[in-house]
Order: sequence, then structure tokens, then C-alpha cells
Amino acid sequence: MDSTLVADVVAEVMKRLNARGSSAAGPRAGETAAAEEPKRAEAYAHPHRVQDPIGQFGVFASVDEAVKAATESQAKLMKLTLEDRDGIVKLIKKTAKDNAAAWGKMELDETKIGRLDHKIEKLQILELVPGVEFLKTNCDSGSNGICLDEAAPFGVIGAITPVTHSVPTLSANAISMIAGGNAVIFNPHPSGVNCAAHAVREYNKAISAKFGIDALLTCIAPPTLETAEAIFNHRGIALTVVTGGPAVARAALAAKKRAIVAGPGNPPVVVDETACLDNTAASIVKGAAYDNNLLCIGEKEVFCVEAVFDKLMAKMEKHGAFILNPQQIETLTKKAFTPGSDGKLHVNKDYVGRDASFLAAAAGTSVPPSTQLLIGETKSDHLFVQQEQMMPFVPFVRVKDVDEAIDLAIQAEHDYRHTAIIHSRNMDTVTKFGRRANVTLFVVNGASPTGLGLGGQGFLSYSIATPTGEGITTPLTFTKFRRVMIAGSLRMI
Ligand code: NAD
Repeated sequence: MDSTLVADVVAEVMKRLNARGSSAAGPRAGETAAAEEPKRAEAYAHPHRVQDPIGQFGVFASVDEAVKAATESQAKLMKLTLEDRDGIVKLIKKTAKDNAAAWGKMELDETKIGRLDHKIEKLQILELVPGVEFLKTNCDSGSNGICLDEAAPFGVIGAITPVTHSVPTLSANAISMIAGGNAVIFNPHPSGVNCAAHAVREYNKAISAKFGIDALLTCIAPPTLETAEAIFNHRGIALTVVTGGPAVARAALAAKKRAIVAGPGNPPVVVDETACLDNTAASIVKGAAYDNNLLCIGEKEVFCVEAVFDKLMAKMEKHGAFILNPQQIETLTKKAFTPGSDGKLHVNKDYVGRDASFLAAAAGTSVPPSTQLLIGETKSDHLFVQQEQMMPFVPFVRVKDVDEAIDLAIQAEHDYRHTAIIHSRNMDTVTKFGRRANVTLFVVNGASPTGLGLGGQGFLSYSIATPTGEGITTPLTFTKFRRVMIAGSLRMI
């Protein structure tokens, strides 16, 4: 992008921010709008900003323009064969894989949260996201004819995506939605818009060159609260899909248009005396350290029975975690949570997704840069337990027995019904927790990412629809049920 265009975009962003007197997407927890504004303006002028101007290859300034382009592109998609549609989906997966290293770095440079190795891996593993093969037609043949129950496209879908996985969520959504026969308009998080817009352009360029469709994916730049609102209300958009925290989940649920909502979580881990402690410790390090604990499914707090608590802490150390003492935990807590406009303490965005060594320094100690995870003992009412903190510091709560662990875990999950994890070889205990937690993703004796097919069975998606109940989204999630009834004919048996 040339310097004039950068200046134009920055000026537009500042104009909209000033006009509203608040940040584009509303400040995140614990953050003041004033602190957010310069960061957002800076993000739009980021050196990784791509060269193409707005208005080409799917990146548009207005929702109306995006709807027009997406509608035309979806009509073209409908004229292609299912094999072509499969080819488009595979092209998106290949483009993501081929560019994973560069795009992972671009996203980390722009958002400044998470870990490079995992940013790259999240793009490399997109082949685990199901495609056209997931669309199955059910049929019934009888005396009255033949009926086909088919998965039909919605048309144009509006998708709001998070900063924690800007390009991965966009890419996985695009795979599932296009496999379902749709085109999509993305309103990315303002702090991750440049990498998102870049990916949209590259996907569209690849699709256009091979299949002659220019804008199956579209992206709004700059994305704002107003453009999100326009997506919620636009008559040309059939469905909205929201992946994000409590504010956007509430906004989508309050809108008139049907929304699929992949909302926040605060996944608890329960550990009882029958657990394999080596596997438990290795799993917690793997899951909680993944992308510096940005995953919504990542282990956020542990409730372990007294009988094995000290042994588990020792195993955690053996598996590379660093134990903070109570004073260090409190020093870190004072920095990691700051008062919001409501007067309550909220997560300080400057600490979200940062490396363990950064958090250790904030706690007043130092760890080798290779340290992936900090842990420490706290009470269950601690801020780090109760809030979805998205940091590689995991609080461990000592409980008298597994019933207390289950009670406190369910309380800390706050009815998000998102993810819960248990380490136990007692199937009665596992069943009891599973029933009571009633979550969307329930992981037993593994690291949280196994629940998304990483080292476990099953498929991948980065949008896990929780309050609206669709679960780990697939192409079928983004289709509508259509029955074709051929009455009285074609029954040949
Ligand atoms: P966020 O809620 O700050 O932002 C998410 C998206 O919503 C962004 O595009 C943002 O601009 C937009 N947004 C925020 N408030 C809005 C409003 N009032 N109206 C319209 N749009 C609004 O979240 P984040 O920090 O980007 O991502 C982390 C959060 O997302 C965590 O809570 C995490 O659990 C959740 N998440 C959930 C899933 C899932 O699959 N369930 C996946 C990833 C992240």
C-alpha cells in the first residue's frame, strides 16, 4: 500500500473513532478506549499492510459493497460443480499451508499476542477442517415416491472473527462456509485486520485464477462496531456467525437475524487421585501453553485433590512449568488485572497472550525464555481462576476431594457451557463431571487441543458454537435443511 493510502485509512479510522468517542470494537476487558485508539490507528498503518488498494480482491470499505460482491460470487459458485467447490476448498487449505510461516509471522507482528510456532501450526493444520465431503444427502424411498433431504447454502454469511486467531478463524470459517455453498463477509477484529485482509486477497487471487470467482471471501477494512452492526442487520446477509467474547456474543444474540455464536469460555481442569499424573502434567503444559493460552478451549484453572496436589505440582515442574510463589502471584495479579470503567478488575490486555518469561518478569522473577508455562497455588476465588485470562499462567486450587473439585470447576466455568477437562481413571467420576458440566467440549485424560483433532480423534474448527448449541462447526452448520419430494414417481423397487 502506498503512503497516501495508508494516510487515508488512518485518517478514516481516526475520524470514525473521534466521531464516536470510543474504540472501534469497544475496549476489551480492563482496557480504556483512550488506550486502544492509538494502537488501532497504528495497526492500520502496519508495515505488513498489503499493497493492493481497498476495493479489490474482496476487501471493501463498506458492507454494501461487500454484500454486492459476495452475492455475485456466490451465484457463480452455484454454477460450478461440487468437484469445483471441493477444489476451491482444497485451494484455500493449500494456500494457507504454503503461506503458514509468513502469515503466522505477519499475524504475530500485528497482534503481538501468542507464539510464532503455534500461529504457524494453526494454519498448517487446516486440512483437518472438513470440506465438501461432509455434505451428505439423506433419502427415503417408499410407496409415495422419493424424498431427498439436502444441505442447501444460506447464500451470503456475515462472520465476526477474534484477534486471538485472526487468520486461522477466517480461513477455517471460509473452508466450512464455502464447502456449504456460501460466500462470506468478514468483520475481523480491528487489531488483526491487516493479516486478515491480506489472507482474503491471497485466497481470492488464487480462486479467481483457477475458478474465475473474485470475491467468495470478503473483508471489511477498517472493521468497526458500525460495520458489525450493519452485518447484523443487512437484508442481503442470511446468517451471522460470531466468534468472540461476551460483548459480541450478547450483541449477536440480541440481533434479529439468526446468529451462530462461538462465545467465551473459562475451561476448568479437574484432577482426582486416580489420574496418571505424568500424563496430566504433560497435557496441562501442552494445552495451557498453546499459543500462550489464547485458545478458548485452553486449560485456564486446575482443581486438584489434596491427596495428589503436591505430587502434581512436582510433575508440572518436571514437565517444564515454573512455579510462582504466593508473593510473585500477587505481584503479577496486580498488573494483569486493572480496573475497568465499571470499577471492577478486568484482564489487562497488555498481558493477554504474552510469553511466560514476560509474565515472570512482571511477577518479579526470571525464567529461561524456553519456559512455556507458569503455575502457582491460589484459592478458588482468585481473579486468575474466575476470569478468562488467556495468559500462560495457570492457577492450581487445592481441594479436599473430587466432589469439591467438580463443584468449584462448574462455578468457575460460569455457565458458558464451553469446555471442561478431567484427568481421572474413575469412570464414575468422569461421568458425574461430564453430566454436571454439560459443556460443548469435554476432554478426558488429554490436552485440550485433542478435542479439536490435534492428537485426538475428530475434526478441527476454530469456531465452537456454545450458547447457540451447534458445537464444533462444520460445513453442515452453515447449510439449511431442504427437502426435495418427488411425489409418486421414480420408486422402482
Ligand atoms: P472480542 O470479543 O474482543 O472480539 C471478537 C470480535 O467481536 C472482534 O471482531 C471484535 O471487533 C468484535 N466485537 C467486540 N465487541 C463487539 C460488539 N459489541 N459488537 C460487534 N462486534 C464486536 O474477543 P477477542 O479478544 O478477539 O477474542 C477472544 C475471545 O473470543 C475470548 O472470549 C474467547 O473465548 C473467544 N473465542 C471463542 C471461540 C469459540 O470458538 N467459542 C474461539 C476463539 C475465541
